[in-house]
Amino acid sequence: MTMQSVLNELSNRDELLRQAAEIARSYARGSCERRVAPAPNDLDNLAKFREPFPSAPTDPMQVLAKLDETGSPATMATTGGRYFGFVNGGTLPASLAANWLAGAWDQNAGLRVMSPVAAELEEVVLRWVCEALGLPANCEGGLVTCATMANFTALVAARQALLARAGWNVSDDGMFGAPPIDVVVGNEVHASILKALTLAGFGKKRLIRVEVDDQGRMRADKLPALNESTILCIQAGNVNTGAFDPAAELCARAHEQGAWVHVDGAFGLWAAASPKYRHHTKGFDQADSWATDAHKWPNVNYDSGIVLLKDGMALRAAMTMTAAYLEAGALREPMYHTPEASRRARGVELWAALKSLGRKGLSSLIERTCSHAQRFAEGFRQAGFDVLNDVVINQVLVSFGSSEVTQKVILAVQENGTCWCGGTVWHGKSAMRVSVSSWATTEADVDLSLKTISRLAQECRG
Ligand SMILES: *Cc1c(COP(=O)(O)O)cnc(C)c1O
Repeated sequence: MTMQSVLNELSNRDELLRQAAEIARSYARGSCERRVAPAPNDLDNLAKFREPFPSAPTDPMQVLAKLDETGSPATMATTGGRYFGFVNGGTLPASLAANWLAGAWDQNAGLRVMSPVAAELEEVVLRWVCEALGLPANCEGGLVTCATMANFTALVAARQALLARAGWNVSDDGMFGAPPIDVVVGNEVHASILKALTLAGFGKKRLIRVEVDDQGRMRADKLPALNESTILCIQAGNVNTGAFDPAAELCARAHEQGAWVHVDGAFGLWAAASPKYRHHTKGFDQADSWATDAHKWPNVNYDSGIVLLKDGMALRAAMTMTAAYLEAGALREPMYHTPEASRRARGVELWAALKSLGRKGLSSLIERTCSHAQRFAEGFRQAGFDVLNDVVINQVLVSFGSSEVTQKVILAVQENGTCWCGGTVWHGKSAMRVSVSSWATTEADVDLSLKTISRLAQECRG
């Protein structure tokens, strides 16, 4: 490139970024008014993306315009106030803004020498997360893509630590011929743990399953005998009911027998951030490792999974990767704590979100969403529908009659576009799930959604 063309590119880039910010601002402004699920026509338009890999360049301004014209209408409005699907959180303003800046920084968070700021923010924010979740202050952790990766990371580290105690070095000798490790899970184990265990080579058929109660909580009285080569996986926040396993009792019994306790607390662990809901998380601090998500309840933008271990050495023993040119400095090295080496600096948005909320803001986000869930439950009951779970945090399960009718209602709600809720099967029957997980949801959003769902349900029931 000539000097002049570089200067031109730089001035074009400035205008491009201005345009991008304007388009994004306009999208964000409209996020509470737009249809929650795209209209059929907007989905059809996605076909416009299907072209062969173009041989000629396209002006970046046109690239951006095409993304907005064809892409924006086909988004799910998860950042508005009426998306209640899965446990997908919204995006806090500070998190979104920090994401833009982090994009401009384009840091590789793998090593401190690659990005001093990313390494520092991670270290700070991991301590804040431990405090918010009521976990031991000296835990070590890593920032990964999601709770599934966090579960995977913790389970691999746990396996390595248990086998090391048995005199077996997994890093050197692998899993073939290693002493067996038993994994115990509840019957309501999340699919994410199963995937993580599958990736790690444990095998789903080898799992030992424990009975659960009517809310999906593991029954401590049904726990089998454990030993020092067992990993017990417990859960903070059942994805359907929001219920918590009795952690204090489970951890005590597991530790008496020398087992490792891992917590899948993708969203539920964050209840610890509120004095009003903290009691649900009692005893979870006694575990050995934890997986959680900041992109769910805390409303950090994607992707933002977190793995934490009480024994930081165990995490580093499993995750460290060395080479002559990758030497560690004297301080914490991010990539010694995660499966990834190069990765984006996801600590930036997590830090910005928690800094903007503070302990008070985080607690109020948790409490507000839980009280919206109560409002949903009361509204459903008043309209004559069955609320199937004890609404303990932000999850509501509702049935509109037979499985067939409930499925019809879910489809009608999703097509209507006012709000979005997903389906599940609970105790052998279809149910609709309402997860209130966004900072942006207001009482008016709940009331409008209730009104719409009730009307659609009456129509479906005929
Ligand atoms: C959402 C969820 C997961 C998986 O989270 P991802 O971030 O999608 O990997 C795991 N466990 C529980 C209990 C969840 O709710």
